[in-house]
Formats: sequence, C-alpha cells, structure tokens
Amino acid sequence: MAVVDPQFAEKLEHFGVDTAMECFNCGTCAAICPLIYEHFPRKMIRYTQIGAGERILESADELWRCLHCGMCSHTCPREADPGEIILALRRFVIANWRGTAHV
Ligand code: SF4
Ligand code: SF4
Repeated sequence: MAVVDPQFAEKLEHFGVDTAMECFNCGTCAAICPLIYEHFPRKMIRYTQIGAGERILESADELWRCLHCGMCSHTCPREADPGEIILALRRFVIANWRGTAHV
C-alpha cells in the first residue's frame, strides 16, 4: 500500500523549493520537456503534491535524466518552477540515499 504524506510539499522547502502546490496539473511542462515520453516533470510534481515520497525514491533515476534546460520553468503558467522542483527532489533522494538500488 502506498504511503502518502500531505505535508511532503511543505517539507520540500528544506530542499530548496516551495512552489510545488502552485501546480494545477495543466501539462504544459510535460509537453515541452525532452523527457515527455516519461510524463516528466509533471509526474514528479504530482507525486510531490500527494506526498508520494516512496514513489519518488523508486523513480529516482528519472530525476537524473533531467537536462536542467529550464524550458519547463520558463513555460509554466503558474510559476511553479518545475525545473527547480526536480533539483529539490534530487536533494531529497540524496538525503534519503539507500544505495544503488534507486539511482
Ligand atoms: S506547467 Fe506548471 S502548472 Fe502546468 S503541470 Fe507543469 S508545473 Fe504544473
Ligand atoms: S529542466 Fe528538466 S524537467 Fe524541465 S524541461 Fe528541461 S529536461 Fe524537462
């Protein structure tokens, strides 16, 4: 059973970003992202909003595929800054490092 944490997005402030809850799931970032086939970065933002930290850890390798091109943040109509959310999630993964099984 998946464990969710409603305070997860708030906790992500510790890792450098406080904009995840601004996302209203429009999909613009996923449409422009070179990783569109993985529904990236919207999927990770949804995981963040519902507090699915375990899912993020399980999918951590995807976070390192981000090119940090910034196109998602540039086009986001809500200024949710998805590119920075990805960087914050990388820090979250490192802080919860479990070895090479996840990355
Ligand atoms: S473009 Fe912004 S508001 Fe739209 S899904 Fe991506 S992060 Fe959310
Ligand atoms: S910064 Fe990362 S998540 Fe954003 S568009 Fe570029 S590759 Fe995709």
